[in-house]
Amino acid sequence: MNKYDVAIAGAGVAGCHAARNLARMGRSVVLIDRRETSGLGHDWWDNVNMGIYDEVGLPAPEPPELLQGNINFKVFPPGQKTFSFVADTAGKMNVDRKMLAARQLRYAVEAGVRFMEKTAALAPVVENDRVVGMLARAADGSKIDIRASITIDATGISGALRQHSSAKYGFSKYISRSEMFVTHREIHKDDARERESRVVFGINNGVQWIHREQPGMADFFAGFINFPGRPRPRDIVAGLLAATPDVKPNLLRGGYGAPIPVRRGFDSFVADGFVLCGDSACQCNPIDGSGVGSSLRAATIAARVIHSALENGRTDVEALWPYNAEYKRLQDASFAQLHALQMFLVSQPKKLLDILLGRGIIKPRDFWGTGKAKQESALGRIIKMMKMIDNPSFIFKLVDGMSTAKKANELYMQFPEKHDPAEFEKWRRGVNQLFATIPPALDAPAEMK
Ligand SMILES: Cc1cc2nc3c(=O)[nH]c(=O)nc-3n(C[C@H](O)[C@H](O)[C@H](O)COP(=O)(O)OP(=O)(O)OC[C@H]3O[C@@H](n4cnc5c(N)ncnc54)[C@H](O)[C@@H]3O)c2cc1C
Repeated sequence: MNKYDVAIAGAGVAGCHAARNLARMGRSVVLIDRRETSGLGHDWWDNVNMGIYDEVGLPAPEPPELLQGNINFKVFPPGQKTFSFVADTAGKMNVDRKMLAARQLRYAVEAGVRFMEKTAALAPVVENDRVVGMLARAADGSKIDIRASITIDATGISGALRQHSSAKYGFSKYISRSEMFVTHREIHKDDARERESRVVFGINNGVQWIHREQPGMADFFAGFINFPGRPRPRDIVAGLLAATPDVKPNLLRGGYGAPIPVRRGFDSFVADGFVLCGDSACQCNPIDGSGVGSSLRAATIAARVIHSALENGRTDVEALWPYNAEYKRLQDASFAQLHALQMFLVSQPKKLLDILLGRGIIKPRDFWGTGKAKQESALGRIIKMMKMIDNPSFIFKLVDGMSTAKKANELYMQFPEKHDPAEFEKWRRGVNQLFATIPPALDAPAEMK
């Protein structure tokens, strides 16, 4: 039985980046993934803010990994009657997820990480209430016991190790249906000359798009909150394709979906000897589901904090807490704000979103980042546009929803700096109370309200 400083389950965006950084700091690291190497990464491209690569010390992608088409699309509100506006996507570029995955894994292995493909994490190994490694199934079907001072669950939304953890730590075993998008994506051959990209926000409490910026390719997507009785995202994509007569079905990439968590991060990402990172910790933008940048950010902080804890001979919650505190302020405060806004919007009649998006009062850019300046500019726009609104009660509701979202941001900025169970409980209570004031989604089935 080998013992490592750090064992990481999941060689995705978060797992590979944490592994590489830890190995570069001199740590012994094992990284496992249930897929084979060639199966890593999604078979499509993702829209990522280019500033993130420098911030986290990952060389920026270059063509062909960096796709060249300008991101330029029209945004429609859920009613789709009025075209809203052309989205402002400055600073964001599409990156090929297969190539990014291969490059990230190569960097990790070059840094000294031991990678085991086709090896599935089954459960954490727990001794005296402390995670001391993980049990995994190797490619040949045998069970292996991997021991490590710290174990990271970076298995994406499945949270293969998280599922077996104790609720007392501040993260849930499972992510509820109302807190995840189900998705489907198909990229077809597209020879048309006139090509318009359109994104519909808010439809089915989610988003659907036809992106046609990439030469020769049309990208169809549907993703939304998974309420029972909803059509399948696969069927919605088939409908979008059928309604686009100048694209004949000819699948080039994708052809499948994957769930995306769309809630704020868990209250805590650490336990004794154990760390969550990436989608497994719900570190995704709760409105548009983007999580590459935030997963890289989280992995960078986690690796630094883990290294420093190990330097001091520590693996306990207290020593790992700075990862919680730094990520909450840097990223999760924004995401908590967006989660509150998302919950508010789905609790309102669709007509409200039609008005807000259709008249440019809320712009998708408000959903991509938050912070004080954005919040104020959105509120400023509301006040300016008040005269245009026929139903003033909408305005009051909106101001109420936005101020709850702002309070969520403020609460996250007050996340306890040090691990103090009483302070943490107080903070959690405050968060739960605030989110409990937001009404349930208007069209949620009764049992989910
Ligand atoms: C359709 C779709 C579109 C998206 N578009 C964007 C976008 O435009 N921009 C953006 O920023 N983000 C986007 N995202 C989100 C982004 O893909 C994720 O946030 C990001 O991949 C999270 O990284 P991760 O490392 O946490 O998880 P993943 O990248 O999912 O990696 C998890 C890894 O864990 C492995 N694994 C799972 N279970 C086990 C197990 N039991 N044992 C071992 N290994 C296991 C998996 O094989 C996988 O390799 C999109 C997601 C989807 C589904």
